[in-house]
Amino acid sequence: SKPVVAIVGRPNVGKSTLFNALAGEMISIVKDTPGITRDRIYADVNWLDKDFTLIDTGGIEPDSKDVILSQMRDQAQIAIDTADVILFITDVKQGLVDSDSKVADMLRRSKKPVVLVVNKVDNFDKFMPDVYEFYNLGIGDPVPISAASRLGLGDMLDVVTEYF
Ligand code: GDP
Ligand code: MG
Repeated sequence: SKPVVAIVGRPNVGKSTLFNALAGEMISIVKDTPGITRDRIYADVNWLDKDFTLIDTGGIEPDSKDVILSQMRDQAQIAIDTADVILFITDVKQGLVDSDSKVADMLRRSKKPVVLVVNKVDNFDKFMPDVYEFYNLGIGDPVPISAASRLGLGDMLDVVTEYF
């Protein structure tokens, strides 16, 4: 069967926007209300000669006691367990936050290959300096993208598909 790639990260970093850009259709709801949307969504994606299954997740709020947010975290954990490669999405506009470090810890425990993606880099010249702080996560080289403007997606897919 095809390799599975899971998109994980905090809510609102742009996971569903990226999923839709890669799936080529508006499948996943952007700016969704937690719990309203299906919490895992699948798409078949092709990049050059490689096919894989992409999974969108609702998001991970590491410390939340909220029932819906903890269910989203459990669903994300299932996606992580299912995945061959994890796309860990962060947000350059918010910068590196404590929750990102906690998600990074979860991902390290999974022992799966992780591609660290910094989204919302809508202008590479302007925002690249802000991308470098994500090296502090200690989870690899940050890959800058703008899911909304579809910038950097090819380079990101090259990194992902190297793991298959
Ligand atoms: P999710 O909760 O991680 O699935 O995030 P969404 O895909 O729902 O996006 C959350 C918000 O970020 C929405 O308002 C998106 O339009 C916005 N967003 C997503 N990608 C980008 C991007 O590349 N640049 C900017 N500026 N905004 C983005
Ligand atoms: Mg989403």
